[in-house]
Amino acid sequence: MYVKGVGPKVAEMLAAKGILTAEDLLYHLPFRYEDRQNPRSLDELKSGETASVIAEVRGSILLRTRRAPIFELTVGQGRCVLKCVWFNGTYLNGKFHAGQTVAVYGKVEPSRSSSNFKMIQPQFELLPDASDDAETRLLEVGRITPVYESLGGSRLASRWQRKVIFNLLERVRGVVPECLPRALLARLNLPDRETALRDVHFPPEGTSFSQLQGSSTPAHRRLIFEELFFLELGLELKRRRMRERAGIEFAATDKVREAIREVLPFHPTTAQKRALGEIVTDMRAASPMRRLLQGDVGSGKTIVAFQAMLVAMENGYQAALMAPTEILATQHFLAARKLLERSSRKPRIVLLTGSLDEDRKRHTRGLINRGEAQLIIGTHALIEEKVEFDRLGLVVVDEQHRFGVLQRFKLMKKPNQPEPDVLVMTATPIPRTLALSLYGDLDLSVLDELPPGRTPIVTRRVSGERSDEVWEFVRKQVAKKRQAYIVYPVIEGTKDDQPELDFSHDPEAAIEPPAPHKTTRKGKTADLFPKAAQEANPAAKSGLKSAVEMHEKLRTGPLAGLRIGLLHGRLDADEKEIVMRQFQRGEIDVLVATTVIEVGVDVPNATVMVVEHAERFGLAQLHQLRGRVGRGAARSYCVLMTGPRVSPLAEERLNAMVRTQDGFELAELDLTLRGPGEFFGTRQAGLPDFRVANLVRDRQLLELAKLEAARFANQPDAALTEAERVRVWARLKESWQRRYGLVEAG
Ligand code: ADP
Ligand code: MG
Repeated sequence: MYVKGVGPKVAEMLAAKGILTAEDLLYHLPFRYEDRQNPRSLDELKSGETASVIAEVRGSILLRTRRAPIFELTVGQGRCVLKCVWFNGTYLNGKFHAGQTVAVYGKVEPSRSSSNFKMIQPQFELLPDASDDAETRLLEVGRITPVYESLGGSRLASRWQRKVIFNLLERVRGVVPECLPRALLARLNLPDRETALRDVHFPPEGTSFSQLQGSSTPAHRRLIFEELFFLELGLELKRRRMRERAGIEFAATDKVREAIREVLPFHPTTAQKRALGEIVTDMRAASPMRRLLQGDVGSGKTIVAFQAMLVAMENGYQAALMAPTEILATQHFLAARKLLERSSRKPRIVLLTGSLDEDRKRHTRGLINRGEAQLIIGTHALIEEKVEFDRLGLVVVDEQHRFGVLQRFKLMKKPNQPEPDVLVMTATPIPRTLALSLYGDLDLSVLDELPPGRTPIVTRRVSGERSDEVWEFVRKQVAKKRQAYIVYPVIEGTKDDQPELDFSHDPEAAIEPPAPHKTTRKGKTADLFPKAAQEANPAAKSGLKSAVEMHEKLRTGPLAGLRIGLLHGRLDADEKEIVMRQFQRGEIDVLVATTVIEVGVDVPNATVMVVEHAERFGLAQLHQLRGRVGRGAARSYCVLMTGPRVSPLAEERLNAMVRTQDGFELAELDLTLRGPGEFFGTRQAGLPDFRVANLVRDRQLLELAKLEAARFANQPDAALTEAERVRVWARLKESWQRRYGLVEAG
C-alpha cells in the first residue's frame, strides 16, 4: 500500500526497524502522551515528579566547559522560569529562538540559580506556530498528543510519525478488517480493531490521561488482548497437537524404581520427589512429554534429570542431555559417571562437544548411532553435528533460556520412530502465571525447596578501593581449606572479542560520559567525572579490570602463594576441563574467571564468590554467580565489588542482591527493571517479541487471553460466523509465522 510520506529511502529505514507493512506502522504505538489540552502550569510543579510542560522560550546559551559543552535553555510562563540542561548539547545551539513555544518533558529538579526548577536532558518538541501547516497544528496543539519512539534519527521522529499515521488512518477508514469475533469483543466490552487503532494514536477528547499513560484505555486493552489471544491460541493448539502424537510409553516397573534408588546419593527433597513423580507420569503416558523443570539455583535439578534418564535407559532407550556450555556439559558428564558407577547396569556414557577433534566426534557419533552409548551428554554439538540416535527416548535440555532449540528436536530421531520425551530445565525463576502462559505448550514442575543443610549466603557490597581487605578475606578462607571464585566482566583488554561477555542491559552503562546525578554549577564540571574513573586502570582502554590481567596481578601480588587458576571462554575445551577438574578436586584454591562459570558449576567446597565490577552485571547473572557458592554446609560469602561509577539502575540491582537471596523476588525486580523483552532474552529463548503487550504490565490480560483462547479452541461462541472463524485462523497463522517464528510444520 502506498503511504504518504514513505518513499523507498524511508521504507528502507523503517524496514531496519522491523516495520515492513502499513499494519506494522499502525501497531507502532506511542510510548507516552502529552496532555496539551490542559497543560501544566510551571508554578504547580513539584520537585521529583516527571512532568510535561509547555512554555515560552526565553533564551539559550552554550557553555563551553573543559569536559563537555553544556547547552542551557530557559523557558518561562509569566514570572516562572524553568531551566533545561543538556550535556554535549552543541547540536542544540541555534535551534531555539525567544518567543517560540516548546513542550519539554523530564524530571523536575530543584534549581539553585534564579529559575524555580530545572530539568536535565529533557525531551522536547518545538510546537508549531501560525507559520506551520494546519495539519501539524491540528495534530500537536490543544489535544492529547502521542509521542513516539523515533524510527530513525530526527527525520522519523514523533512529528513525522504523527503525520504518517494520521494519514494512514484516514486512508483505511472503514476498511480495517476485524480479526476477533464480534461476540467475543462484545462479551469483553472491547472496541473493534479500527476504533482501537485510531484511539490509541489519537485519543479522543475526554480519554483518561492516567489510563493512557498506563496503556489501559479500552483501545490499548483491545490491541494487547488481540496480540496475547493469538499467542495463547497458538500455544493451545500446539498443546492439543502434542497430545495427539505418538510418544513412547515407558514402563516404571519395580525393577526401574530399584535402579533409580540404587544410585541416589542422598534423600531427595519433597519437591524433587514430586517433580520426578510428575515426570514419570508423563513418561508412561502415550503422548510425548514436554515438561519444564523450574528450580532456583542449587535446588537440585540435575539429580532429577538423571533419574528420568535412568527410566529411559532401563526401558532400553537412549537418553541425551544438552548443556549450554562445554564446561557444564563436562561437569554433567563427570557427575553422571560418578553417579552411575553404582548402577548395576553400567550404561555407556559419552560426551559430545564442538571442540572435540574430528576423529573423536566421528567415533562418538558411531557409538550413538549403533546404540552402543546409552547416555549422551553434550552441547549444541548434539544438534549441530548431525548425530543420529539409535533409539532416542528422552532429551533433557539444561538452561533452556540460553538457546531456543526446542523446535529442533525432531531432527534427532530416526524417521518412523516415536517422538522422544523432552524435559527442559531452567533456573530462571519465571513467575508461575507467566511460565504457564508463556510456555503454554510445556507442562510445569517446580522445585520450590532447597536441599537441607544450606546456610544463607552472606552478601556484601564493597567499593573496589577496599580490595586489599577483600583479598585478605579470601586468604583467610583458603587457610580454612575453602575455595573461592573471583569473577570479571571481560576476558582481557577491550570488550569486543569476549564471547561470554553479557553486560547487564543497562542503557546507562553505555552513556559516555555519564549524565551526572549531582547538581552542577555553571562552568565547573571538573567534579562531574571523578578522577578515579580515568585512573582506575590506566592500562585498559575500557577501564575495566579483566580476568587475564587480574589473574596475573593477584598471582604475583595480593594472593601470592595461593594456587590460582584461570578460566574463561577462550581456553580450548581440554584446558577448561583440566582447570575445572582441578578446582573440583581442590587442587586450585582460587579460580579467576569470567561468567563462563555463571551457569550450573557445582563445587560445594567453594565458599567465596567475589565479583569485581559487579555494577556491570545483570541481576539474573549476579544471582546465578552467587548460586555457585553456598552449596555445601559451610557458611558462604558473596562480595560484590564496584567500580567508581555506579548508575542508579545498577544501584538498585546491588541493593536487591544484598537484601534478598530469593530467586523469584529477584526475578520480579529484574523483570521490572529490564522489561520482559530483555528479561527473557526474547530471541535466544525463542519467545515471542511483542508489539503492544508487556508481560509484566499486562499479566491480567494474559490470563484472560489464555482463558478465551482455550474456550475458542474448545467450543467457539454459538454466534461465530464461518467468515469470522476463517479470519481468526488466518490471523493466527500469520501472526505466528511473522512474529513468533515458532511455527512447527505438521
Ligand atoms: P541446580 O538446580 O542448580 O542444577 P544441582 O542439581 O547442581 O542444582 O544441585 C545443587 C547441589 O545440591 C549439588 O551439589 C547436589 O549434589 C546437591 N543436592 C541435590 N539434591 C540434594 C538433596 N536432595 N540432598 C542433598 N543434596 C542435594
Ligand atoms: Mg543445574
